[in-house]
Amino acid sequence: MERKHGKFSSFPPAIYLVNKRFFVIFAFHNSIRTLNPKKYKLFMYFANYHSHCTFCDGRSSMEEFVRFAIAKGVRKYGFSSHAPLPIDTFWNMKLDDFGEYQNEFYRLKEKYMSEVELFIGLEVDYIHNYIEIQNELYSAENMDYLIGSIHYMDKLPNGDFWTIDGNFRDFFVGLKILFDGEIRPAVERFFDISDQMIGKGGFDIVGHFDKIAMNASKCTDFEKSSVWYRNRVSDSLQLIKQKDMILEINTKSFVDKGITYPDIQFFPLINELQIPVVVNSDCHYPTNIVDSFHPTFEALKAAGFKTMHQLINGKWQAVEFDETGLKQ
Ligand SMILES: [Zn+2]
Ligand SMILES: [Zn+2]
Repeated sequence: MERKHGKFSSFPPAIYLVNKRFFVIFAFHNSIRTLNPKKYKLFMYFANYHSHCTFCDGRSSMEEFVRFAIAKGVRKYGFSSHAPLPIDTFWNMKLDDFGEYQNEFYRLKEKYMSEVELFIGLEVDYIHNYIEIQNELYSAENMDYLIGSIHYMDKLPNGDFWTIDGNFRDFFVGLKILFDGEIRPAVERFFDISDQMIGKGGFDIVGHFDKIAMNASKCTDFEKSSVWYRNRVSDSLQLIKQKDMILEINTKSFVDKGITYPDIQFFPLINELQIPVVVNSDCHYPTNIVDSFHPTFEALKAAGFKTMHQLINGKWQAVEFDETGLKQ
């Protein structure tokens, strides 16, 4: 599924004088692109706003992620640790660490300011009938942005919340208990809960919007191309548009499973609805910071997108891109 893009071939770049303006022609693998150096910066860059580190379930320190981000051509990088919850989980930040999360971030922001622009955010759980995105547990007022995500749905008889984002075995156990093994009502409930989260707001970016498809797709009676499913997703996308939110295109499962969240089949509709998007890797390892960005940028371009949103001077703004990266 993965293809290589944007690598220079053995041809040297050639410079031509046309109409008194210099044009530089680079030979790429599949095509020749003509760039006007006065209009575009020759070096594209990447940005990523969804990332984890050892303050939650990421596998390296904040500083290690920053170093890798710089090495991979990332100019804007945001941390979004799983926000603290009132319950103990495997992946959320401990409330006691929230102060240190901010201290370490500001140390690194200053240390690396000439090489990368760093942002601090949180990936916040919305758990229906349990905790809202905006809650009393901590203050998120110093955060640059918040990502709203659903990992948990309803409570199981043992008091634990059913997670849709874990392994299939646990998913299937919960599905049998809560929905008698029926996948369609479970998926419909997931999007009903998503709609509640989106409707209440209090965050900037909708995180891995259709994540339930990851495990649902392993059930024999679920087909993500079915009309009812496409209609259900379409309804939630229209709500995102109505609420003026940014939709994340999450590439975390692209290498392993060949899918993005939301699924690539929805890209044309998202473009038609003019929902602003941001491409994020949701990386837990520094080596995955820009995983699958090239093919995802290319798929977005093929679906008609010309811009994606970036945080510039404290405001989310549209920035042009092509499959090689962001342009300004
Ligand atoms: Zn998540
Ligand atoms: Zn995440």
